[in-house]
Amino acid sequence: MKRILITGGAGFIGSNLCKRLLDEKNEVICLDNYFTGSKENIIDLLDNPYFELVRHDVTFPYYVEVDEIYNLACPASPVHYQYDPISTVKTSVSGAINMLGLAKRVNAQILQASTSEVYGDPTIHPQKESYWGNVNCVGPRSCYDEGKRCAETLFIDYHIQNNVDIKIIRIFNTYGPNMSPNDGRVVSNFIIQALTDQNITIHGNGKQTRSFQYIDDLIEGMIRMMKAEDFIGPVNIGNPNEFTILELAQKVIELTRSNSEIIFTDAQIDDPKQRCPDISLANDKLNGWKPKVQLEEGLKETIKYFKTKLE
Ligand code: NAD
Ligand code: UDP
Repeated sequence: MKRILITGGAGFIGSNLCKRLLDEKNEVICLDNYFTGSKENIIDLLDNPYFELVRHDVTFPYYVEVDEIYNLACPASPVHYQYDPISTVKTSVSGAINMLGLAKRVNAQILQASTSEVYGDPTIHPQKESYWGNVNCVGPRSCYDEGKRCAETLFIDYHIQNNVDIKIIRIFNTYGPNMSPNDGRVVSNFIIQALTDQNITIHGNGKQTRSFQYIDDLIEGMIRMMKAEDFIGPVNIGNPNEFTILELAQKVIELTRSNSEIIFTDAQIDDPKQRCPDISLANDKLNGWKPKVQLEEGLKETIKYFKTKLE
């Protein structure tokens, strides 16, 4: 039995990961400061004797004997990471230093939840891990993008300098159950708007693209990455099926049979115009990993989940 620390464990991805790792008979410590996460996401796990909950902020050091660390703590939705940008940088950078320091002291393997945002508004399409990105360091998204880029640098340097056993995954837009109704990202916004017959708000002309990954595929990729031998990444984990935001809005309306209308609002500053992962490296290094759940199926599950939240 392994003891595994998940920072940001009460968030969307973290709570799904807690559940999967408990199902696989591990001991799980879920650490969170509840900035965007919620106890509701992990309430069903509280009766499990192998599950522990810790209220803590990763910008402060934390000590615990563990075998593995998944470092997920960080607000991920643009609305939330831009709310207190200094805190976002501290969470990414000081959080990474604290968790890497812990991994070094207790000799734990540590996986960093990095992001496709390290590619910024990409000029190469689809994005391969070898692409260095096109990131504005003084814009509204910089606190997150540069914070995550610096965290990757720290992971690599702790590996080279201190021999820490690291893994870096770059997660592309992921959605599914346990997203907060107030998350603010596009999938949850559109579904909530559609289910409540409000206008669907597209920022800009809706021609910008994203590639949406269902949560179960990400969790499988994360676990395979932690187990992979002689491979530290960075590796893209995402679904390469690309859609415009307008197509997403139309799909959500169709699946919810909503009366909502689509409206176009101001484009957001530095909003990436296109995003799609090249997943050949993940496929090669992670035992043939590739996403299994496509958009329509994943949206149906997510719509079911949000209906329960609106009851
Ligand atoms: P989320 O906002 O639901 O979860 C983040 C969790 O971290 C929350 O529970 C929050 O309370 C916690 N947290 C934030 N700051 C903290 C701090 N200082 N100390 C302790 N806990 C803190 O978002 P998510 O989608 O679950 O994202 C999880 C991780 O995955 C993030 O690091 C994010 O950058 C990364 N990621 C997610 C996506 C995606 O599409 N969901 C894409 C790329 C990267
Ligand atoms: N978006 C939108 N309406 C919304 C929320 C987001 O049109 O209510 C757009 C946003 O401008 C971006 C895309 O959807 O082009 C994805 O946004 P999200 O916040 O989900 O994540 P991002 O990939 O930008 O970090």
